[in-house]
Amino acid sequence: MTESEAQLERVRGWIADARRIVALTGAGISTDSGIPDFRGPQGVWTRDPAAEKQSTIQNYLADPDVRKAAWQARLRHPAWTARPNAGHEALVELERQGRLHGLVTQNIDELHQRAGNAPERVVEVHGTVRRVMCWQCGDRAPMESALARVRAGEEDPRCLRCGGILKSDTISFGQALVPEVIERAMTLAGEADLLLAVGSTLQVYPVAGMVPLAARAGARIVIVNAEPTPFDELADAVLRGPIGALLPAICA
Ligand code: NAD
Repeated sequence: MTESEAQLERVRGWIADARRIVALTGAGISTDSGIPDFRGPQGVWTRDPAAEKQSTIQNYLADPDVRKAAWQARLRHPAWTARPNAGHEALVELERQGRLHGLVTQNIDELHQRAGNAPERVVEVHGTVRRVMCWQCGDRAPMESALARVRAGEEDPRCLRCGGILKSDTISFGQALVPEVIERAMTLAGEADLLLAVGSTLQVYPVAGMVPLAARAGARIVIVNAEPTPFDELADAVLRGPIGALLPAICA
């Protein structure tokens, strides 16, 4: 048995013994579904660093051209045609086995819910692209109705209730996180007996802080990611490879 096979076997045993697994997922779990990540080798921002600046809330609110471009980008978003992949399905399997205490995701694509994880178990720390919210009155509505208006010719559709600026119900750069949602994620991290971080560079705070928090509370830490993360030293195991193969192998 090679060292990596032995490690896989070890992690499989830890997962089988765990009762309160908390998964923390990032963009890397959805790349096999055709949604590019941000910071991976083929990531949206790796290829176009200027795109990161354009996605700040300040630019979005101040500049109608940024909003028009954002609506065009939303029309083309890969989430509309994406389907869950083997990585998502492995986390559904963990829930089916009764071991999944919580699933905290940085993703905005709702693929965990579409794969079959119970919506009440999924904590979306960065919101969802499948809804719009009004920056002025806070009204929320399905994204599809706003996209239909863009397709019909409105370049920057406004809130139908108050005329305010609409955006996707996601957390943009410069926008405050929702405190109750972050608190829920941190509470889950503190309750885990095993924290499984999948497909994230673990660079975005405060969510990345779930990893040291869970470790301090006594949880085993398992990281599955193609690239190194700042918490690899702290982890009990780091599985460096394709999520679509590794996650089903350790969760089966
Ligand atoms: P990230 O882009 O910073 O990092 C993704 C990591 O996953 C990279 O290290 C990459 O090497 C790795 N990876 C990609 N595909 C992989 C695969 N098949 N197997 C193994 N590893 C793989 O992602 P992040 O840490 O989640 O931060 C990006 C932020 O952008 C998130 O907070 C999220 O809100 C948002 N985002 C969401 C989506 C989505 O909803 N699918 C997509 C892009 C960005």
